[in-house]
Amino acid sequence: MIPFDRASELVLAESLPMMTQHVKLSEALGRFLAEKVASPLDAPPFDKSAMDGYAVRYNDERNQYNVREIVAAGDAPSDRPIEPGEAVQIMTGAPLPPDTGKIIRVEFTRRNGDVMTVTEPEPYDNIIKRASNIKAGDPLLAPCRLGAKEIGCLAAAGIPEVTVYRPLRVGIIITGDELRNAGSPLRPGEIYDSNGPQLSAQIINAGAVPVSYGIIEDDRDAHRDAVVRGLKESDILLLSGGVSKGEFDYVSRTLSDAGVDILFHGVKVKPGRPTLFGRTPSCLVFGLPGNPVSVFVQFEALVRPLINKLNQAPSPIRPVPGRLTRVLKRRDVDRAEFMPAVIGSGPEGLELTPLKYGGSSHLNALADANALIFIPAGTETLEQGDQVDARLL
Ligand code: AMP
Ligand code: MG
Repeated sequence: MIPFDRASELVLAESLPMMTQHVKLSEALGRFLAEKVASPLDAPPFDKSAMDGYAVRYNDERNQYNVREIVAAGDAPSDRPIEPGEAVQIMTGAPLPPDTGKIIRVEFTRRNGDVMTVTEPEPYDNIIKRASNIKAGDPLLAPCRLGAKEIGCLAAAGIPEVTVYRPLRVGIIITGDELRNAGSPLRPGEIYDSNGPQLSAQIINAGAVPVSYGIIEDDRDAHRDAVVRGLKESDILLLSGGVSKGEFDYVSRTLSDAGVDILFHGVKVKPGRPTLFGRTPSCLVFGLPGNPVSVFVQFEALVRPLINKLNQAPSPIRPVPGRLTRVLKRRDVDRAEFMPAVIGSGPEGLELTPLKYGGSSHLNALADANALIFIPAGTETLEQGDQVDARLL
């Protein structure tokens, strides 16, 4: 068994050849940007007004002005400077006439024919300078997962399509004779497969494409056939169940027989101790325990960061410090631990409340959690008020 930190290092040291493709911005949400993008233009491309009001000349403070003309957003910038005593009525987003010193907002003025009277002093210039968002040639985005904000920045820069990585194909093999799909009746001794649908959802959330190989019975030949296919067709292959030391736990042997180089089997972590990781030249393989909470946690702890790393994106894990609302005593001090918790705000900042949780099969405790507390190996007791790190779910 290896420490959790070492397991994480070994996983993140791996790489795969990645392919790229071009997509339109409208298809780019959730994809991983595969290039550095520089801004092709100054944004905004011209000095513009932040207010509806009146543009007046530099240092031309007076009570009344003569209104010369009106400019709307979308009008071409005028090349006629504003003269002393003149005002140009201007709309938010419209280009400034040359020599504009400030925009007096319309709320601080009164209008009578061509005469504008100032009713309140305007303390700001209300000018948005050319290139105040970004200068042409400056870095706009580095490789990352594209969300709505990033798509907004690309669109503002006039970029219609981007180079993204081809999504990783993540195969899912569910093992266990006791498992049935939702929709078919259970016979005595059977349960529904939750890991398959849950892993599919986690894979989609992580920006990859799930490929399901269904539920495979605990039989060496059935395992071998599924593994051989999965290794051939996937970039990452996930197996659920059968990775412990039980009589019918064939996963480790099957993977070795199929040519998988096993890098670790057994991690000092709770939940998820039996977790296995290995690779072939073209596929990275995880043997995850069958217990549903272990599967959820180890996907978030090991698989999702790997997906980000392969796609050159920053780690999805941003630890958030918070204070414990109750004492925590641990039995298995040798293992690092992820604990489902609720994060909320208290008088002294963020507070973390560990959920009552009956072990790694207690999937419903996870549904109430919005964070996982991370406790490093070696920590035995944590007092109420002690600071711990959590990962947001
Ligand atoms: P295993 O790792 O195969 O020994 O399974 C550990 C426990 O998790 C057993 O109680 C299994 O019934 C349960 N389990 C295994 N696979 C699944 C699954 N896909 N969905 C729900 N529970 C599972
Ligand atoms: Mg099993």
